[in-house]
Amino acid sequence: MKIIQQIDALKSYALSCKKQGKTIGLVPTMGYLHAGHQSLIRKSAAENDITIVSIFVNPTQFGVGEDFESYPRDLAHDTAAAEAAGASVIFHPTAEEMYPKGYHTYVSVQEITSVLCGKSRPTHFQGVTTVVSKLFHISHADRAYFGQKDAQQLAVIMRMATDLNMDTIIVPCPIVREPDGLAMSSRNTYLSAEERKQALVLSQGLYAAEKLFADGERSTAFLKETVRQKILTAPLARIDYVELLTYPELTPCETVKSQCLLAVAVKFGTTRLIDNILLEVPEK
Ligand code: AMP
Repeated sequence: MKIIQQIDALKSYALSCKKQGKTIGLVPTMGYLHAGHQSLIRKSAAENDITIVSIFVNPTQFGVGEDFESYPRDLAHDTAAAEAAGASVIFHPTAEEMYPKGYHTYVSVQEITSVLCGKSRPTHFQGVTTVVSKLFHISHADRAYFGQKDAQQLAVIMRMATDLNMDTIIVPCPIVREPDGLAMSSRNTYLSAEERKQALVLSQGLYAAEKLFADGERSTAFLKETVRQKILTAPLARIDYVELLTYPELTPCETVKSQCLLAVAVKFGTTRLIDNILLEVPEK
């Protein structure tokens, strides 16, 4: 497996692969890889000749006072984890390589970036869409793999790819969870033992609502309240939001009539966790 740090080197490698008729899958990540990331890499490796995994803690998607500096980094571990899952290349650029002096261009998706995480992280998605468009151009990817764990990010990237007529196909991948239900995240490492225990209320609340939904409950307010009440049983939890919106449009709805996203963001100390489930209305 190759490790490439320079944009030009990755571009030439990707172009030479394309010339040989090979397909390229891209898995953008911020590193500190876990089984969730590896599921994306495995899917890409199964569907493409070449899989490029980018590992880049992207400064433009962190707000002032967020965890850019402390975000966990471990390239040796990531190299082994990416290779074990079938990656062909790791792209690991520096911030100066991606945003050299004089850099002034940003990609910004409107509307659906102002709800959910966009409310408390107003500059976050512009950083994500900017870096992801750069990665699409640099990697010449036929397909790019994104986790449903970051459901709003996935919706924003699908919107961007459609609106800007990008050729890269966006492939959604299911959430990978710990055996007890906690959605895997590089940020779980910040949690104390007690916070880790209490963090289970996120998935438990979502599952309780999912069960009610399966039994026929369609009221947005009731489903949200079910999740909220479960989260409130954890004394250390501070709710940022519990939301239910249509998906992937992310518009409000009073009752669930089409596919919807039930999503939560909860802080434990300074650690902000997100989780979600999709509610699919059965066809009649
Ligand atoms: P990150 O490194 O957190 O920026 O995540 C990189 C990619 O991995 C994103 O597309 C995430 O949605 C995806 N991802 C992160 N955690 C999980 C998980 N638990 N299950 C599935 N995909 C995930």
